[in-house]
Amino acid sequence: MSEQNCLFCKIVAGEMPAEKVFEDARAVAFRDVNPQAPTHVLVIPRAHLESLDDAAQTDESLLGHLLRVAARVANSEGLSESGYRTVVNTGADAGQSVLHIHVHLLGGRPLAWPPG
Ligand code: AMP
Repeated sequence: MSEQNCLFCKIVAGEMPAEKVFEDARAVAFRDVNPQAPTHVLVIPRAHLESLDDAAQTDESLLGHLLRVAARVANSEGLSESGYRTVVNTGADAGQSVLHIHVHLLGGRPLAWPPG
């Protein structure tokens, strides 16, 4: 998918509405439209990167930043003590439906393991 047609690039650009909960120079976090838990936030890089499988060595800092943002949002959502899950679906078998890398932050209820 090209950046022009990328849904999450449009959210980053402000061309698509989203309930943003955090943003900085490298990342944006917003609530998932189809939440699977009381807190379900997506953390994405501003720059288009299709999936974890496309990440290069130069993306290592960015990938770490996405996780740190997820932890920061989890803390602001009051999840630090109860716990939360971060998930990066990659490719068809994992059910990745939006081809712009995103970290799911899920919390606010007990989360079963293993996932489906
Ligand atoms: P994945 O299946 O891992 O690619 O996750 C994509 C996620 O994006 C799903 O949980 C969708 O509910 C969510 N999603 C799709 N469109 C939007 C949107 N416009 N705003 C917020 N979340 C979205």
